[in-house]
Amino acid sequence: MLTTALLATVVAIKAGTLIDGRSDTPRTNQVIVVRDNRVESVGTTVPDGAKVIDLSNMTVLPGLIDTHTHIFLQGEDPALGGYDVQLLKYGIAYRAARATVSARRALEQGFTTIRDMETEGAGYGDVELKQAIEEGHIPGPRIFGCTRGISSTGGYPLEGYAPEIEVPKGVQIVDGPVEARKAAREQIDKGADWIKVYMTHRSWLDKNGNLVSQPTLTLEEIRAIVDEAHGQKRKVACHAYGGEGLHRALDGGCDSIEHGLDLDDAAIAQMVRQGTWLVPTLSVYYDHNAPADTPAGRRDRKRVAVHGPSFQKAMKAGVKIAFGTDAGGFSWSEPIAQEFGRMTSFGMSPIEAIECATSRAAELLDMQGELGVIAPGAYADIVAVAGDPLKDIGAMKDVRFVMKNGGVFLNSSRAKTRDE
Ligand SMILES: [Zn+2]
Repeated sequence: MLTTALLATVVAIKAGTLIDGRSDTPRTNQVIVVRDNRVESVGTTVPDGAKVIDLSNMTVLPGLIDTHTHIFLQGEDPALGGYDVQLLKYGIAYRAARATVSARRALEQGFTTIRDMETEGAGYGDVELKQAIEEGHIPGPRIFGCTRGISSTGGYPLEGYAPEIEVPKGVQIVDGPVEARKAAREQIDKGADWIKVYMTHRSWLDKNGNLVSQPTLTLEEIRAIVDEAHGQKRKVACHAYGGEGLHRALDGGCDSIEHGLDLDDAAIAQMVRQGTWLVPTLSVYYDHNAPADTPAGRRDRKRVAVHGPSFQKAMKAGVKIAFGTDAGGFSWSEPIAQEFGRMTSFGMSPIEAIECATSRAAELLDMQGELGVIAPGAYADIVAVAGDPLKDIGAMKDVRFVMKNGGVFLNSSRAKTRDE
């Protein structure tokens, strides 16, 4: 079933409970009036002649936003060949077919917008999937794409092959500020909405058991990219765990830190000062950890161990946080909404976690008032869950209704509520 545009029609959505994405206090028995693809009003009366969608047993929220996905990755399960097989054995058409399913999976779980954080060797495929979605050929969320991603020599897989063999890379490799700027120009020219840079790569434990991450781009290189992107009114997302690479990303003026596993106090203070976003992607680090008694296994467990406290320190200091999962790094068959539970397990309130996936994520995307909120003038991206996510955040996994851009993609609210 494709999203059907309800052009020139007025729809009244009866919301039993409304969490509008901005207010910390839910409202009950609201009527959301949708005209074409926008929210016209939020009140208590159904206009004459409006088509009514009854979600009076549901909690209604703005369409959710995952600000860190990879639709071109499928979970990187080591048993299925891990990351490398994606680039070595799967052609672009096969990967695009599967990315189409990933996009649909996001939408049916209520994620009406994603910031897709590079295609992992699938070139400009995100731009083309976005086009197919916008033209209505396939269902999917709104996509803010990064295209190819950027790192330096020695800074990204594929790696570990015989030096005589040329293998593809999951990013565009650059060395020197000239190449760095050129890559940003090329990617923007071919449709990148954001630029994604890997500022750290491998990580390991030092002799004291501390997590160390290999820095990649130099300060001059990241500055060239940020300068080019900002000049063209694009933003720069930096994958960074901690240490030197993290500090170069911040000194270079990046807009978001992805993962931020191991944020030190100076980095947190700088993020607050500069207004840098943190996209923590907590869940993905619990997947596919190496066996506990190996160096990689100890490293993987250390990552998990430092991530929670790092997230908590950032939250307490007032760093701006947006919801992001790294979906694709884990299988698209797993619930994206598991991240909400991770965030609340580290002390974030359920309403704040929801705001991270709605109004705050919209702010990260420079779409305040248009996405991530149910208010007059916003796009009609509206979802509903059974139950009360403020009492049990697990309810966010139970999406029963999805409207994107005024078109109903999914409505199983009545069938399911009758059973209860
Ligand atoms: Zn990622």
